[in-house]
Amino acid sequence: MKSMGKPANTAQTCRILTDAYGRRIDYARISVTSRCNLRCVYCMREEHQRHHSPAGELTTEEIFRCIEALAVSGFRKVRFTGGEPLIRRDIVDLVRYAKAVDGIETVSLTTNGILLDRYFEGLIDAGLNGINLSLDTFEADRYRMITRRNLLHKVSENLDRLLRSAGSLKVKINVLLLREINSSEIGRFTELTRHYPVTVRFMELMPFDDNQIWRTGKFMGAEKILEALTAIYPELEAKEGKTTEHFSFSLPGYEGSVAIIPAYTRNFCSTCNRLRITSDGKIISCLYSGDGVDLLPALRGGAEREVLTSLLQKAVSKKPEDGREAGRGARGTSMSEIGG
Ligand code: SAM
Ligand code: SF4
Repeated sequence: MKSMGKPANTAQTCRILTDAYGRRIDYARISVTSRCNLRCVYCMREEHQRHHSPAGELTTEEIFRCIEALAVSGFRKVRFTGGEPLIRRDIVDLVRYAKAVDGIETVSLTTNGILLDRYFEGLIDAGLNGINLSLDTFEADRYRMITRRNLLHKVSENLDRLLRSAGSLKVKINVLLLREINSSEIGRFTELTRHYPVTVRFMELMPFDDNQIWRTGKFMGAEKILEALTAIYPELEAKEGKTTEHFSFSLPGYEGSVAIIPAYTRNFCSTCNRLRITSDGKIISCLYSGDGVDLLPALRGGAEREVLTSLLQKAVSKKPEDGREAGRGARGTSMSEIGG
């Protein structure tokens, strides 16, 4: 394992970042790479960065410094994402470091699960709090059609591994629902919650794909998802949902829960607490804004932490009140570039 220094003390100097509309911003999604071992049709084209060199990606130490700056700025939660975060060989170090930084309370990861067996023990040992595994189908042919890769067997094995750890580890399964593609599998995914304390999250498609499947009529809205779910499970019980899990449900006697994520049809801007950092060091204050604040020159120029925190502050101050209304900047950009 790569040796890592002890994180600098960030507790005493901590401040809280609040944007111009009074929202406290304390959750960072850090995209550690925009590369991926799949090519999901709703996310990226086949030719996406095939010859990409990771030279433009933040290094391990640069990500460490970002995390420290985030902690000093009052961030409490970090999620590593991508692209596929498990492509990075330092992913365990990143998790371990984030967990050791004063102020960071929760560290989680979103992954397609292909490489999870390689890092699972290390991630648990490093103190990872939660994993969101993205899987849209249990059918091999459909999986190949959606991801353009024949790797369902790898994810299935790793899903089993994850289900066995659910409880001590917070496990969520992200299922992106596409009309007439995988909508017939709603019941099958829901059945995962029967014996395991996991959350299955049915998600709406968003217009962030460089393939623009968005335009092909495959969008399935939250209301339609709910209709399909209640047709199978009339006994579905509504639960108090988090802001982003607007519809949250459980079934009598089932261990886990089901959520519908109306990522497109509902506007969560008023309660948004997020900032994203892209794999090449841009701070994105809003999914719908193409306008980032660049951390890379400061990171590569050896700037003090105060410079990084003031850049974070600048990004927070640029956060629009309502992103969907304000901008169309990032539409058409792959989620893998923005950090999904
Ligand atoms: N590669 C990892 C994975 O797939 O979990 C992490 C990055 S991926 C961009 C994160 C999440 O974004 C996945 O759950 C994926 O389904 C979702 N996603 C990608 N493109 C999307 C789109 N156009 N609309 C909605 N969600 C999308
Ligand atoms: Fe890769 Fe995740 Fe995008 Fe699929 S959704 S292509 S796994 S980054």
